Amino acid sequence: MDRLLEVGGVKVMRLVLGPLGTNTYVHVCGEEAIVVDPAWPDPRLVESVRDRTVRVINTHGHLDHVAGNVRLRESAGAAIYIHRDDAYMLEEIDLPLIRAMVDNGLIPFTPHRPDHMLEGGERLEVCGGACEVMHVPGHTRGSIVVYCADLGMAYVGDLIFRGSIGRVDFPHSDPRAMAASLRRVINAIDGETTLLPGHGPPTVLKDERDLLERIAAILEGEL
Ligand SMILES: [Zn+2]
Ligand SMILES: [Zn+2]
Repeated sequence: MDRLLEVGGVKVMRLVLGPLGTNTYVHVCGEEAIVVDPAWPDPRLVESVRDRTVRVINTHGHLDHVAGNVRLRESAGAAIYIHRDDAYMLEEIDLPLIRAMVDNGLIPFTPHRPDHMLEGGERLEVCGGACEVMHVPGHTRGSIVVYCADLGMAYVGDLIFRGSIGRVDFPHSDPRAMAASLRRVINAIDGETTLLPGHGPPTVLKDERDLLERIAAILEGEL
């Protein structure tokens, strides 16, 4: 189901795409469009950014978050941004489930390289607002949050969902790093910020804070 979200006067379109129900966010202003996690080469996605300068930001490298990258590059000349620690995932698949889905034609895979490697700490202008790239390893090594303080929103990928967190049982996951990343987000992001996750509906950080602190403590205690 598609949704038009309004956060701080800014309109963000949420498209739920692909076999894993991944959120793709389209943030359009004037001549510019930001697409966060193009999950599928969907014609509506291509149409929504037509004739605009397009930047694609991948919150991490799992295929269900990047499978629309190449279509946007080909159709709109999109520049692709991903953290350097996840860039290899654009060229290889290391999860058996995803490999099986690709082999069975359920999800397209076109190996490609990004245009820009992120490290964390960068500042990106999005629709006139300053956004900060935060490196939040745990779910994957190169997961990022894009925190747009001026706009009161943060794209959190598979770090945080409403009432839950992303999986930390993948081969490239790290529960200890996840706990540290959750604590960083809790401390660095304003509580009123709307969180736009990689799956499921938006939430607000202050509503998740207690749960996230308890999950972080569990992740630390298990080690
Ligand atoms: Zn993921
Ligand atoms: Zn995901």
